[in-house]
Amino acid sequence: MAKPGFLVVISGPSGGGKGTVMRRVREMMPEIALSVSATTRPPREGEEDGREYYFMDRDAFEEMVAREEMLEYTCYCGNYYGTPKREARRILESGKNLILEIEVEGNAQIKRLYPDAVSIMLMPPTIEEMRQRLLGRGTESLETVEKRLARAREEIRLAPGYDYIVVNRRDEIEACARHICEIIRAESARACRMTDEIEAFFI
Ligand code: 5GP
Repeated sequence: MAKPGFLVVISGPSGGGKGTVMRRVREMMPEIALSVSATTRPPREGEEDGREYYFMDRDAFEEMVAREEMLEYTCYCGNYYGTPKREARRILESGKNLILEIEVEGNAQIKRLYPDAVSIMLMPPTIEEMRQRLLGRGTESLETVEKRLARAREEIRLAPGYDYIVVNRRDEIEACARHICEIIRAESARACRMTDEIEAFFI
């Protein structure tokens, strides 16, 4: 059986430029898998069902929760978001590492289930920069932008509980993505994850 992969949680307020950075991380590390979450939020322009998210209504989401099919889930700004359990387990058991792009409550649930999960908080440099990015995206109403900024402050308050913090500075997407890849590579080399390689010397 393959050595199971480990989970990498990436959190960071929306409008922090997380989507762009994570696309680059995927290109730099094609061997790592990215979990597709389920959500009750309506799709944004250009988003596809099964690619960015599995889009579903509240009844379908609540049924999945009742059937214990979510690894973790939360309600964020009025919508449900959750990680489907089956796919995540299949990927980990195949030996691949898996990135979960989830918010802080999801991270807390994951850390309880998988204490060896690696958590990274991707932070925008300032709250003002975040406001500009959210407004510039033009996909949210002013009210939603304010809601997301308030939520961002709550999330950043919890940043000290993460294993790593990476600041996503303007025009530094490349460096930021590289930094995340370096963290994942270093974590793969942790002695506690290399026990098979060590034990192979003694059989
Ligand atoms: P957005 O609506 O901008 O795509 O996502 C809003 C927030 O929900 C982001 O912080 C994102 O990381 C988080 N999120 C996305 N999928 C999940 C999930 O499966 N579980 C949890 N807990 N949060 C999620």
